[in-house]
Amino acid sequence: MAETRHTKVLIIGSGPAGYTAGVYAARAMLSPILVQGIEPGGQLTTTTEVENYPSFVEVQGPELMMKMEEHARAMGTEVIGDIITDLDTSTRPFIAKSDSGTVYTADAVILATGARAKWLGLESEEAFKGFGVSACATCDGFFYRGQEIVVVGGGNTAVEEALFLTNFASKVTLIHRRDELRAEKILQDRLMKNEKIETLWFHELEEVVGDDNPKGVTGVKVKHTQTGEISEVPCKGVFIAIGHAPANELVKDVLELHNGGYVQVTPGTTETSIPGIFAAGDLTDHKYRQAVTSAGMGCMAALDAERFLAEQE
Ligand code: FAD
Ligand code: NAP
Repeated sequence: MAETRHTKVLIIGSGPAGYTAGVYAARAMLSPILVQGIEPGGQLTTTTEVENYPSFVEVQGPELMMKMEEHARAMGTEVIGDIITDLDTSTRPFIAKSDSGTVYTADAVILATGARAKWLGLESEEAFKGFGVSACATCDGFFYRGQEIVVVGGGNTAVEEALFLTNFASKVTLIHRRDELRAEKILQDRLMKNEKIETLWFHELEEVVGDDNPKGVTGVKVKHTQTGEISEVPCKGVFIAIGHAPANELVKDVLELHNGGYVQVTPGTTETSIPGIFAAGDLTDHKYRQAVTSAGMGCMAALDAERFLAEQE
């Protein structure tokens, strides 16, 4: 029979927002339960050096997230490896069903489900996912030692991935649809100085081309965004780095959203349109999307939840 666990505060997500909420909620003696989801540690576990989290000049993303988990646990947060599959916000306490079968009931919920990589939506991209097409250089870069690789995108992620992939690849081509990058200046400088990287401005990926037996990528067809001219770039790996979309599946039909899917909160707070449900981190933030801002919002969410619960009593 399915187990039911009750908690005052259920934290959904184990990125910087979730773990920081755990630290604060535990220190407020709320005995929170934190459910980690499919990606324990969140997005930073898919990167290498993090150079802008205060107190670390440089730290590996997975190491930073392990430290955050340790911190949340040490303060008294119960961290559980499970995935929330359904959240019923119409009853009190709230009811969250999970992949393991455990049902969590909670007086307050902190949503910290973050964001997930976006894909271009091409048929050929889908066909070669896992066979040359990836959205995570740290996970898959190693497979392309001595090979040519393309990276699609022009933000921080694309530039960082291109730089990281030069550790393995013989050549990296960055394909960007404009002639200006969104990435921070310091990353742009590193990109321009790296002799292994070529940038293909004003180009979009049209099709991933490959073989079936053995299944693998042999190149990409790209289109010039101004002239429409099609050309082909040979490569063995294709890394899509065109941004992230908020992971709002649990609440997209019940909470107010903004900017195409981010959970709306009352400005200056983490209160959503349902009292008792709080949201923090990339799930609610289309603008800053940083580890430190997510952690800050996690703190706010725990303090907001504490106040909400005190008022209920
Ligand atoms: P996330 O880190 O996205 O974590 C979301 C969590 O929610 C995950 O643990 C997931 O498992 C969980 N979850 C989702 N759905 C469910 C569910 N149904 N049930 C239970 N759990 C669920 N920022 C910086 O400040 N510095 C950097 O150097 C930097 N580098 C980056 C490099 C890369 C490649 C990427 C992709 C991002 C980078 N960022 C960086 C951005 C930073 O990672 C994010 O801003 C931050 O991780 C957001 O934290 P979060 O807690 O909101 O969510
Ligand atoms: P992003 O900043 O949203 O950039 C996405 C890039 O992909 C843009 O250059 C965009 O082009 C391009 N793009 C989007 N859709 C496309 C499509 N359909 N076809 C072709 N190109 C497309 O996303 P991100 O780089 O993943 O960064 C997300 C957040 O995480 C940001 O806030 C970023 O600062 C943060 N982050 C921080 C660090 C760091 O601090 N070191 C590292 C990684 C990420 P246009 O420019 O033309 O719109």
